[in-house]
Amino acid sequence: MTPSLSILSDLLSIPSVSTDPEFASGMEDARSYLLTLFTSLGFTAHLLPGRLHPAVFASYIVNPSHPTVLIYGHYDVQPAGAPSQWTTPAFEPSIRKNRIYARGATDNKGQFMIHVMAVRKMLESDALPINVKFLIEGEEEIGSPGIELLTENYKTLLSADYLFLSDTEMPALGQPAIDITLRGCLDVEIHIQTSAQDLHSGQFGGVAPNPAQILAKFLSRLKNGSNKITLPGFYTDVISPNDEEIRDFRKTEPSDTQLLKEGHYFFVGGGENRYSLNRRRWFEPTLDITGLDSGYTGIGTKSIIPDTASAKISIRFVPDQDPEQIYSSLASSLHHSLPKATVWRLIRYPVASAFKAPTDHPVFELVKSSLKSVFGRPAVFQGQGGSIGSVPVLVRALGLPAVMIGFGLPDENLHSPNEHFSLENYFKGIETMSRIYSALPVLHLPNRPESIPIILETSSPGLL
Ligand SMILES: [Zn+2]
Repeated sequence: MTPSLSILSDLLSIPSVSTDPEFASGMEDARSYLLTLFTSLGFTAHLLPGRLHPAVFASYIVNPSHPTVLIYGHYDVQPAGAPSQWTTPAFEPSIRKNRIYARGATDNKGQFMIHVMAVRKMLESDALPINVKFLIEGEEEIGSPGIELLTENYKTLLSADYLFLSDTEMPALGQPAIDITLRGCLDVEIHIQTSAQDLHSGQFGGVAPNPAQILAKFLSRLKNGSNKITLPGFYTDVISPNDEEIRDFRKTEPSDTQLLKEGHYFFVGGGENRYSLNRRRWFEPTLDITGLDSGYTGIGTKSIIPDTASAKISIRFVPDQDPEQIYSSLASSLHHSLPKATVWRLIRYPVASAFKAPTDHPVFELVKSSLKSVFGRPAVFQGQGGSIGSVPVLVRALGLPAVMIGFGLPDENLHSPNEHFSLENYFKGIETMSRIYSALPVLHLPNRPESIPIILETSSPGLL
């Protein structure tokens, strides 16, 4: 086993499950493992407070005038689940068919370790031309409850010119990709009540309102026949992908059959047909009913008019939609659709923001060309339909471009039994990242007052 692989393997053997207090010592062991690792590489490393679990922060400043990258990762993992479902134990890393199997292998220990090992490689050959900061969070798998406050409190410490992270996937082995969008998420719950108790449906049917039907009517009107969301003002701020992005989305456009196979569902639907499938899942907002409850749902029948009805709704919004505006539009539509004396309540959950990478920034050209030279194939822009809460928070607070390069693969069983990570991608990832980090100083630095001048040699100065 090469040193860069055994360092990863040792980290994977630590059960750092953030959601379960029984694993508190595993969380602590992972932190001290990382602190020792960073210190041994010459970094200054310490902990930063989280809501429940501290984050590990490490920095290596070569020269304050050099560009600085902030690299994000998370050391916490999902619970392993039933041991019987794992071929080899979740916290005993095992290598089979050029993959390393363990909980956290792809999500996210293997992926952030790519960056650590790239920097280690550059330090070993005395060729680190940039300043490096690592922020390795311990609360990602529980929704990053502390990231906002942490970022706010340590803004100066975290300040950098670029944010890099690998916590996503490439479309297939051999096809590198850069993630340029994250959808945001707004979850709400609607409760309505039209009587103090369930009513006899024979005695009161026809004279008492039915909350289930009132709610169903409201919900069914939230999308029109073409699956366009009908909330007033909903689409006003939606930004469209540019031509290059649309072209790239086409390159990885799945067939209907592929999608159905991937998601184990029966037919394609729920979005607007006029857009490609990739655009629908990465660049278009959606609204889904995620739960419905009313009346009697036990065995047999019960002849009642229920007293209450409730629904849970999840809205995946896109840049630059404003979740506040969406929420008030939903609240006012609900208010206006309900009969006057209906008692109602709208509950909202914490919002994850949407994100769009500034793909016209020169760093994306550098990343594309580095991926191409290592993987032998042009990288494509792709999106993520889900959210990574920390990215928009860091981008907003620190004002830097975020570069998301996923080295995971779609079938690596993250959050499931037999999670694994491709060793081909691990080593190619290390090679790619060291190329990118080596070349960063030649780029124009947007966060600095002056860009580095490019001197062209010319025999006739007047022509410059
Ligand atoms: Zn995860």
